[in-house]
Amino acid sequence: MESPVAAGGPRNTSVVVLTLDTNEVYIVVSLSSRTDTQVIYIDPTTGSLQHNRKLGYDVFNSQDEAVNHITDGSKLICKSTTYAKAILGYAVLGSFGLLLVATKLTASIPYLPGGGCVYTISESKWIKILLQNPQPQGKGEVKNIQELTEFEIDGKHYFCETRDITRPFPSRISLQSPDDEFVWNGWFSTAFKRIGLEQHCVILLQGFVEYRTFGSLGQQEGIVALIARRSRLHPGTRYLARGINSCYSTGNEIECEQLVWVPKRAGQSVPFNTYIWRRGTIPIWWGADLKMTAAEAVIYVSDRDPYKGSARYYQRLSTRYDARNLGVVGTNQNKGGFVPIVCVNLLRNGEGKSESILVQHFEESLNHIRSTRKLPSTRLHLINYDWHTSIRLKGEQQTIEGLWYHLKGPTISIGISEGDYLPSRQHMKDFQGEIVYNDDLIGFFCLRVHQNGVIRYNCADSLDRTNAASYFGGLQVFTEQCRRLGICLDSDLVIGRQSPHNHSGSTTPLSPGWKKQTDGATGTPHYTDRNTRTTSGKHSCPDKPWKRFDMTFEEFKRSTILSPVCQLADLFLIAGDIHATIYTGSKAMHSHILNIFSDEAGKSKQFSVAQNVKITLQRRYNNAVVDSYRQKQLEMFLGLRLFKHLPSVSIQPLHVLSRRSGCLLKPIASIETSSGDGDSLLSFKQKDIIWVSQQAADIIQLFIYLREPCHVCQLLLTISHGADDSTYPSTLDVRTGRDLDVLKPVLEGASIPRCANGTNMVIPISGPISDKDMALTGTAASLPAHKTKFPFLYDFGGLEGELDFLTRVVVLTFYPAESTCSPVTLGEVEILGISLPWRDMFASERPGRRLWESVKNMREDVNSFPSDTDSNPYAVALTNDVLPHESSDTYTSPQVDLLTGEDIDSGSVSQPMTEISLHDSSLGLFHGHNEETDSQRISLQDNIPTKMGVEQYISCFELLTASHGDNKLGFVEAMKLEIERLRLDLSAAERDRALSSIGIDPATINPNTLLEESYIGSLCKAANSLAVLGQAFLEDRTTGAIGLDPVDDDIDIDFWNISRIGEECCGDPCQVRAETSTLTSSSQTIFSCSACQRKVCRVCCAGKGAILLGQNQTGGTSTGDSSSNRSVTMDGVICKLCCQNSVLDALTLDYIRVLISQRRSTHAETATYEALGQVVGKNYFSRKKESSDKHAAASTFQQLLNEEESLAEFPFGSFLHSVESASGSAPPLSLLAPLDTGSRHSYWKAPPSTSSVEFIVVLGNLSDVSGVVLLVSPCGYSMSDSPTVQIWASQKIHKEERSCVGKWDVRSLITSSPELSGPEKSDKDIQTPRHIKFGFRNPVRCRLIWIKLSIQMVVSNSVSFEKDSNLLSLAEDPSSGIGRRASIAGTSETDPCLHAKRIIVVGSSVKADIADSSSQTSERASSLINWLEKAPLVNRYRVQVESEKLIENDLVLEQFVSPASPMVSGFRLDGFNAIKPRLTHSPSSNVNSLDASSIVFERRFLSPAILHIQVSTLQGSSEEMVVVAEYRIPEVKGGTAMYFDLPKAISSRRIWFRLVGDIAGFADDPEEGEGGRPLAAGLCLLNRIKLYYYAQPNDLGRWASLSGI
Ligand SMILES: [Zn+2]
Ligand SMILES: [Zn+2]
Repeated sequence: MESPVAAGGPRNTSVVVLTLDTNEVYIVVSLSSRTDTQVIYIDPTTGSLQHNRKLGYDVFNSQDEAVNHITDGSKLICKSTTYAKAILGYAVLGSFGLLLVATKLTASIPYLPGGGCVYTISESKWIKILLQNPQPQGKGEVKNIQELTEFEIDGKHYFCETRDITRPFPSRISLQSPDDEFVWNGWFSTAFKRIGLEQHCVILLQGFVEYRTFGSLGQQEGIVALIARRSRLHPGTRYLARGINSCYSTGNEIECEQLVWVPKRAGQSVPFNTYIWRRGTIPIWWGADLKMTAAEAVIYVSDRDPYKGSARYYQRLSTRYDARNLGVVGTNQNKGGFVPIVCVNLLRNGEGKSESILVQHFEESLNHIRSTRKLPSTRLHLINYDWHTSIRLKGEQQTIEGLWYHLKGPTISIGISEGDYLPSRQHMKDFQGEIVYNDDLIGFFCLRVHQNGVIRYNCADSLDRTNAASYFGGLQVFTEQCRRLGICLDSDLVIGRQSPHNHSGSTTPLSPGWKKQTDGATGTPHYTDRNTRTTSGKHSCPDKPWKRFDMTFEEFKRSTILSPVCQLADLFLIAGDIHATIYTGSKAMHSHILNIFSDEAGKSKQFSVAQNVKITLQRRYNNAVVDSYRQKQLEMFLGLRLFKHLPSVSIQPLHVLSRRSGCLLKPIASIETSSGDGDSLLSFKQKDIIWVSQQAADIIQLFIYLREPCHVCQLLLTISHGADDSTYPSTLDVRTGRDLDVLKPVLEGASIPRCANGTNMVIPISGPISDKDMALTGTAASLPAHKTKFPFLYDFGGLEGELDFLTRVVVLTFYPAESTCSPVTLGEVEILGISLPWRDMFASERPGRRLWESVKNMREDVNSFPSDTDSNPYAVALTNDVLPHESSDTYTSPQVDLLTGEDIDSGSVSQPMTEISLHDSSLGLFHGHNEETDSQRISLQDNIPTKMGVEQYISCFELLTASHGDNKLGFVEAMKLEIERLRLDLSAAERDRALSSIGIDPATINPNTLLEESYIGSLCKAANSLAVLGQAFLEDRTTGAIGLDPVDDDIDIDFWNISRIGEECCGDPCQVRAETSTLTSSSQTIFSCSACQRKVCRVCCAGKGAILLGQNQTGGTSTGDSSSNRSVTMDGVICKLCCQNSVLDALTLDYIRVLISQRRSTHAETATYEALGQVVGKNYFSRKKESSDKHAAASTFQQLLNEEESLAEFPFGSFLHSVESASGSAPPLSLLAPLDTGSRHSYWKAPPSTSSVEFIVVLGNLSDVSGVVLLVSPCGYSMSDSPTVQIWASQKIHKEERSCVGKWDVRSLITSSPELSGPEKSDKDIQTPRHIKFGFRNPVRCRLIWIKLSIQMVVSNSVSFEKDSNLLSLAEDPSSGIGRRASIAGTSETDPCLHAKRIIVVGSSVKADIADSSSQTSERASSLINWLEKAPLVNRYRVQVESEKLIENDLVLEQFVSPASPMVSGFRLDGFNAIKPRLTHSPSSNVNSLDASSIVFERRFLSPAILHIQVSTLQGSSEEMVVVAEYRIPEVKGGTAMYFDLPKAISSRRIWFRLVGDIAGFADDPEEGEGGRPLAAGLCLLNRIKLYYYAQPNDLGRWASLSGI
């Protein structure tokens, strides 16, 4: 046998996790399957993984080289180093990054037939990384994260690095596409998939794997391996995971495989065979109520639909074990036959036994399935075999015999799979049978016989009895497996040897390539492997197959060599213990029977009795105490119910874009000359920096250039100062833009409270808001105090910022406090945002491919009917006429039912003439995008359909109010109007403008104000429950679909089924008439209400969510609980009359929340489309993707670079200023786009009258530039349009600082190099594209390259230059070119213009981090240290408050101050404990957000919930409260003290603090209890606000109550 090492195979995988002194973590991975080493950086703020596939940066030739790079040649200190053998997973959970690695492995199967080692993890390590962000996280979440790290890995999990082992051996599928049912770290490995390193995290299975070598009296040696894979579809512990669940799987479900083979030398073919069976609990809905007092748990079967999903369970088995259509020639074939599934039920079936109820239901469930004929090709058999009773009555031996009697028929008909591994594919075609090969194999497998169907064992828990019975079943197969491989287990050898004629009973066909020869002397057949010319002594035992089934126990024992039997028993014993431990937390019981063949059988039995008692007690304890804890661990590890266990954790963390290669464009002057240009403010390595300005400054401006374009979501400040906290600026403006030319304000005058040194503070940012919207609603900074009374349902007046994924420049303007006249201090500044997966989008790899395709679809949908795009399932059709006078059926829109994934096929398509799609070009979501010409940015607001939408909106409003006679709307009407508004895609601002235009105050239709206060609370609660239930349902649907074909739900009512304005009951056939009706119609879809059985039309049905919510309110105890053993169903419909109004209201509220969120996602996709169009050109989408040879493109590019780096490639490189383009031109950014992106024939053109253009290219990194390559446009250059090129280099943006590196005249080149002129020849461009290289004399270190292209508008003649692709510079004399031009008269060409295909800057990048680490060591001047340590002149002291209370629905805190108190200068606010939950509504699409290939635009980041606090006091003699100040509250860790100074000290007896803003965006950690109030308890102001005044420290003592604050 060979091991990978002995075979001279690759190295072992090695993982090194380095934690630097700065708390930065690097993962260094050297895979066994590769020869290089990758470095993955964990962002210390957000925890996101980073890897750029860049040689010398994060790809190295060896581990040592990589480690050396990270530690800068050991100069940097590593706080800790972990050496590991494999990565098992990584996830960012709020404030923590959790990395799981395997530190010790056991080779459980060192060498599978065909190669590959299966390792069991014998020791693992959780590395918990505390992230430097202040995201508030609940105590419950933190506890759950801690508990997740206690999840037991060791000894229970295994993996194979090179082969797929999630499927029966040998897998046809390659490693990269495992069967999801058995992958346990699918969720936990998504972070690696997202960065394109999916193979760096192993595919983890749970269960047991081990092998034993055995011999048959010195003849042939064999190996038996037992592989047990636990299904993850119904994870969980005993008592919590029993029977079937809504993912159609059962608790403790395991697939077992018994693989036997004969080891051979390398190069020889390896014969093997394999046998599969299943074990699991009974696939019906049942459970057990555990009572500590009762002796046994009380078994119950769900009273509601107990066999729901059972058929799907068997369907999945049937699909997996269906061998009918495989190309095999063996005996077990029955093409067109059936797949047998034989259930061996070992439960007690006696009268009065609690398990007998399960036996009855089991039988009944199978009868039920047979009666439905849903599984036409499957044959289900049930064998009831009461194991315990049989043992008690007949003893062990007879029980085993009895089992064999039952198993004989099924086992033989299901059979086993057998074949050979052939090490070379040379004669692959000549082999008969099923040929199995994939990229993970060198040779191939040839399967001659295939197992068809499966035997499934169960007892109550699929534990002890199941393990024992499956052993005795497996043992019979094992002896047959050995026989077929020629390993004779007969102890009675003499008989076997002397009866060669028995051999004729062998049905085993020969392997191809084997030849039967008969020894002439003895008559003994020999079998020769023609491939290897080796001869094995025997082909098989020369006797009858499956003969031991007919033996008694004693006969079996006597006639069989027992050592292999005991080896097998040993494997089953360990496996039984492992499975029992995973399920119950204790070892298996009653397993002594497995030792029945061993000499020590008697001894072990006695020992076992005592052991069983102990285990029973332990299980009872575990089930009662530990199970729910372990259940939660399992779910979290699998990424299930995360919205419940970790509600604030985001699926895709943000990225810090100001760091690593981000830079300051303008230097800012520090008092310390050694601290550089201020770039250290962007470096994490200097997190504790206290940067000090030169002198007192009015403002400090940071021009931050981001590492790559993104949409900016957050600003993270590290508060930094000396002893006096007033030196940190007090307010801040933020402007953002794609370049320096258009900078839009996104935040003005945001307050920065005083905080302790080192405090991390997040300032959430929504995109720029259009002036028009601003003007209407007033500035965001001063929200009207009384209008926003109870924004608990949803944000009625929300302003929407623009989204721009090409944002590159962020300008921060800090304003010091007015009182300060000292230098200003600053700390680290971080910009967080969402960047698009550019590289994957360009390469069309996931996750970029998904995004690319959805964006492309958006484009294609412009003129087609949108129906089933994942992204916009609400794509709604609207009738021109709001009142449908035909049957209301035509009114229903083509929607996708999100939870079923179906198209809701209504009659609407048949009436297209009356409908306008929202995506119709006349309404034009993408209006203005069709032309290539819009080099100018069009703001999102301008694109949105307005006029028509507004008209329709107003007519809806009028329709609603027409019946009243006044303009007042009720709650339900107002909600319907809002739904209409969202469906018309109008923003809140557009709605307000529309209403104002007809004289209506928008506030009067705000649903938030139209409800009783007492009802708002319960409504919010119901809607929140619905969100959780809907999400859980979708999650189960996604999981349940694994291994199954989708099924159609026969009822096409969607989740909400909100009837629209003017939609009416169909009349006659409907017996419910929940909605008014003036119509009678006959052609209607009529349903039947499952509650009252009345006939009901679509309009009178409640949405399907009502059934979920109703079940939850009546029966369920906990929301979204997967561990409930009662079936949850969304089958059937319920009419509106049978549904509580509160449920209907909750559905409506949820629907509005969904639409708002959907609207934001649609904007994000539009922005993605827009951004991508700015790089590849918009007409690129409409074309078919040009076939491109990726490999050829890459090598072409390498040729161009000539072993240098491309330094300015988008997305890392970009232009500092906007560049104008002619109409029909490719977008300017395409000049920097990767070579193979965009359409081949497009290129950039300057506007016709432009004679010169200056590009300021910002490089991805500080670099040593050696030259610039200009790719010639496909049209080629002519004498008139070939430009003069002048290039400068600089570090910062000041023009004075740039230095000229050269000037070249392309015209001169044209004459000598005619191939550059004229149109491109189509066959030539496959080779190196036409280009001109402008080489520098010496490499220039710079960050900016200025390139000026100019042409003479009057065409000039020029001196001829020699052709040289490396043209000599025309020297630094800028005037030298001018004299060379002599104008010639007349030209046949049309107006010449500047154009180019690509600009490539070449050279090498400078390792940026070195500068950071070296400047850190500089000594601070003592004068500066003194200044920093100097105590402030005044201190804060507490103003005593006489009393405080909450008023106005707890949003206002009223404080009374004693008249004798000093004037109040400010207040201290302690950071809130509320979280921002990720889940705020039921799923808006059926996209699996955990799928690594999906990009999720979280609304929390795109339009963040922002809180303000208003301070009001009594002014003068009047009793009215007047607002004196308002502050935007930044996000800090819960309890962090923030000090807000008032604009001026106030003296008032009564002070109000009012919380305003997006209160609905916050919630409490569910672990800390839900109060049922709409306002999160964590936002409560009580005890959170303290008043202070300033006084000099030496004034201490003047007031009795003096105390610091
Ligand atoms: Zn009706
Ligand atoms: Zn009803």
